[in-house]
Amino acid sequence: MSAPAGLPVLPGTVSPAGQPATLGVMGGGQLGRMFVHAAQRLGYFTAVLDADPQSPAGRVSHHHIQTGYSDPAGLAQLAGLCAAITTEFENVPAGALQTLAASRPVAPGAAAVAIAQNRIDEKSHFTACAEVAGATCAPYAVIETPAQLQAVAADLLPGILKTARMGYDGKGQVRVKNAAELAAAWADLKQVPCVLEKLMPLRAEYSVIVARGWDGTVVSFPPQRNVHVDGILAVTHAYASNMPAAQSERAQAATKNIANHLNYVGVLCVEFFVVDDGSTHGGLIVNEMAPRPHNSGHYTLDACDVSQFDLQVHAMAGLPLPAPRQHSPAIMLNLLGDVWFDAAGQARTPDWQAVLALPGTHLHLYGKPDARPGRKMGHITITGADVAGVLAVARRAAELLGLPGMNA
Ligand code: ADP
Ligand code: MG
Repeated sequence: MSAPAGLPVLPGTVSPAGQPATLGVMGGGQLGRMFVHAAQRLGYFTAVLDADPQSPAGRVSHHHIQTGYSDPAGLAQLAGLCAAITTEFENVPAGALQTLAASRPVAPGAAAVAIAQNRIDEKSHFTACAEVAGATCAPYAVIETPAQLQAVAADLLPGILKTARMGYDGKGQVRVKNAAELAAAWADLKQVPCVLEKLMPLRAEYSVIVARGWDGTVVSFPPQRNVHVDGILAVTHAYASNMPAAQSERAQAATKNIANHLNYVGVLCVEFFVVDDGSTHGGLIVNEMAPRPHNSGHYTLDACDVSQFDLQVHAMAGLPLPAPRQHSPAIMLNLLGDVWFDAAGQARTPDWQAVLALPGTHLHLYGKPDARPGRKMGHITITGADVAGVLAVARRAAELLGLPGMNA
């Protein structure tokens, strides 16, 4: 696919009508905020569409359009301001992206985002490109009707029932041991369309982030190892000794193929499981994809010469996509709202003085006004000269803040 008219959007330029080069983003969360920071560093103006007046990205953007994602007037305003538009929230209605794409370059496109929004379509996509990708997804069954529920093969159990839509951070998922639990769980989920996935014996979880341009160029970060606690990402380990080199190459090649097969433009993250049974594709299983920068790639801001947010800016604006280089081993610790409360449930300010005294710590807070348990408030990236040093500081920071996940 060649770049649409209007690209590249060169940073710092002003249109004949006096409009500064402006990039837009659908969604105002922390991913949008870090995107806005990256765009502004290059000299772009930014516009955020998000209904929340306090949204993290809205508060740091030149323009903040405070409407719902499908509001025609809001979409028209965004298109009027921006030379190119992206999304930071994967559940933006695909129709809204389509509307924007009628007049502006939009990356990623509505079709790719729509596939990522629905686990049934996502798994068909992974299955369709399994052979070229060299990785397949876990055995699964689609459950949309009582007949499909009855027909579930016994060897998919024990399994995890996942809603086809709107699942994130472990929400919309139920673990089931047998057919009776499966039927009860589907009833609890109000019989919405679901997939049942076989419960896999995970040795570890990884993600790979790639960026693909309008001309088909793809660049990749190496796989990160991710530790989840209660279904939410807690820790990301980013250094080479994480994964055997051959498997790392496979995972990156699989992710590039998944992006190519979608004709994707922008930053894409694919989550992988590594399982002990190495019989299929070297034990590499594709879990899911996110059509945007990803929590597991936040370390790239501090540990790489080009971050995932820089690459999102480059890809959407039609700028060159330089291959990123990681210059330091890194560990990222997610900061959930829980850290803002002590053991007795009293609100507190975390001990930043102690944490920031540790070498190589980079604190990122998203500017969210109210901390709630489970809410992503920020993250800390720890960088250093060697893995042992980074691990030691990360353990100490986790201990000071009471963060989970550093023992896995
Ligand atoms: P979410 O959209 O909430 O991130 P995921 O499908 O990634 O949903 O599942 C969340 C977590 O649940 C995964 O990171 C993994 O730890 C676990 N999990 C999901 N599917 C399976 C599976 N088939 N077998 C074992 N563990 C799984
Ligand atoms: Mg996931």
